[in-house]
Amino acid sequence: MYAFDYQRPENRTAAVGGLGADGRYLAGGQSLIQAMKLRLSSSERLVDLSAMTDLKGIKVDAATVTIGAMTTHAEVAASAEVKKAIPGLAELAAGIGDQMVRNMGTIGGSVANADPAACYPAALLGLGATVHTDRRTIAADVFFTGLYETALQAGELITAVSFPIPKYSAYIKYKQAASRFALVGIFLSHGAGGVRVAVTGAKSNVFRVTAMEAALTASFTAAAAKAVAVPTDGINGDMHGSPAYRAAMITVMTQRAVTAALAR
Ligand SMILES: Cc1cc2nc3c(=O)[nH]c(=O)nc-3n(C[C@H](O)[C@H](O)[C@H](O)COP(=O)(O)OP(=O)(O)OC[C@H]3O[C@@H](n4cnc5c(N)ncnc54)[C@H](O)[C@@H]3O)c2cc1C
Repeated sequence: MYAFDYQRPENRTAAVGGLGADGRYLAGGQSLIQAMKLRLSSSERLVDLSAMTDLKGIKVDAATVTIGAMTTHAEVAASAEVKKAIPGLAELAAGIGDQMVRNMGTIGGSVANADPAACYPAALLGLGATVHTDRRTIAADVFFTGLYETALQAGELITAVSFPIPKYSAYIKYKQAASRFALVGIFLSHGAGGVRVAVTGAKSNVFRVTAMEAALTASFTAAAAKAVAVPTDGINGDMHGSPAYRAAMITVMTQRAVTAALAR
């Protein structure tokens, strides 16, 4: 690990102002600290967000669940309000990594990190969420721009993520057995915005499957999902699975997501 300065401000103005040209925010450290230890990442300064209590917490109203950026995966998984409003989102958080990762890792860190196999990006895209920052709001549809890349500008701080509450939701993950990241993860929702199917783990970036969405709009059944063959264009292939295997898994996992969503 390279040397760095460390700050732990208590308010947003100090956090954003203290970052400097080469600083980075530190949330749960579950991705950033490991990358720094391996010298895959370096920064002159880390600005720790853990003292900023206004970035933590879950608010639910009739139409929306809003989760503060520093809310941990464990807190989302345990929230009775999230379980009731968007059960697929609580299940997703409960399945991230192990208990230690869930106790430390945050939604803001996961979303900013934009790991191609991370779970939360599928929920954001699969629910049509909105990312709130210290400067603006960004629709999930335009937030994830590439491999570990987002629409965030230099120094932009995620403050919260808000999710519209759908009628149905489910997250089904086919895990990489060692890391528990997704080989293929499907977030499915059906609500006022229609049917959305978002996939993580299968390409360099989270994506929607529009042919699957059209089939499920016509008939929200597992049989309709089964009839959709996903093309292998751009699908990852590695020692864990070929592009054809992952594409087939998208169809299988979506069928399971429909069954799970309808069973609630
Ligand atoms: C063993 C292990 C297993 C895991 N398994 C899974 C899994 O199954 N599914 C999954 O989705 N994830 C998994 N993860 C990753 C985990 O979810 C992390 O919590 C997440 O990737 C990063 O969150 P963090 O709060 O630790 O962020 P950090 O590591 O602190 O930060 C990550 C990045 O986000 C930036 N950042 C943090 N907060 C903000 C903010 N508010 N605004 C702007 N930028 C910010 C940081 O500067 C940094 O670049 C796993 C991690 C480990 C170690």
